[in-house]
Formats: sequence, structure tokens, C-alpha cells
Amino acid sequence: MSDETCIFCDIAANKMPAFRIYEDDRTLAFADINPATPGHTLVIPKQHYVNIMELTPGDVAAVHQTVQRVARAIKATLKPEGIMIAQLNGAAAGQVIMHYHVHLIPRNPGDALSA
Ligand code: 5GP
Ligand code: ZN
Repeated sequence: MSDETCIFCDIAANKMPAFRIYEDDRTLAFADINPATPGHTLVIPKQHYVNIMELTPGDVAAVHQTVQRVARAIKATLKPEGIMIAQLNGAAAGQVIMHYHVHLIPRNPGDALSA
């Protein structure tokens, strides 16, 4: 079930363009439109959930299998020294898009996120 007002549901349903990196029955990985570093990728369940508290065990597993798959692909292709994985729940935590998503952010010394 999708939320008609949700941009990530629209991306999952191909109603809105995105640079798609990986897709299976339950999940989708696509490039972040405003990457924190090159290769910044988002992984979502195709089902609309707002946050981690709502996901079913099956979708928790499916999302994190995709997170691992994409992390391996980023490591093999972009060869970052590290990969930061982040997931925000609630506006107070910085969540802007209210469809559960996991950030994968390649990290290197001296990159844009370094102090
Ligand atoms: P949040 O703060 O909710 O965890 O992060 C939302 C992320 O979604 C941000 O990094 C933002 O750049 C990304 N984003 C917002 N709108 C779009 C969009 O329309 N397409 C894509 N590919 N990414 C988006
Ligand atoms: Zn949604």
C-alpha cells in the first residue's frame, strides 16, 4: 500500500524519476538527489512506513539485505575508505521525508563531511 502524498512511494512506483541502483520485490536503492558525498544512496522498502517502529520483520530483513548488497557494491566500485549508514526517525532526529529510508554515505578522509 502506498501513500499518495509520499515522494518515495512515487519513486517506488515509477511515477517520479530517480537514479535506480538496485531493486527487488520489497526494496529499492536509488541515488540521493542532494548527495552528502559522491555515491550517497538511499534504500527504502516499497511499502510505505514512516519509521523503524512500523516495519514488519520481513521488511526489516529485506531492507537490510539490500543495505548490505549496496554497501558491498559501493565498496567494490567507488572504493571509499568507509561507509556511513544512517537512518533518522522523526523530525526531531532530522527526518525530512516521512517514508522509512536508510542512507549509505561513502566516506573518505578530508571529504565534504569531515570537520
Ligand atoms: P532525511 O533527512 O529524511 O533522512 O533525508 C531525506 C533525503 O532524501 C535527503 O538526503 C534528500 O536529499 C533526499 N531526497 C529528498 N527528495 C528527494 C527526491 O525527490 N529524490 C531523491 N532521489 N532524493 C530525495
Ligand atoms: Zn511512502
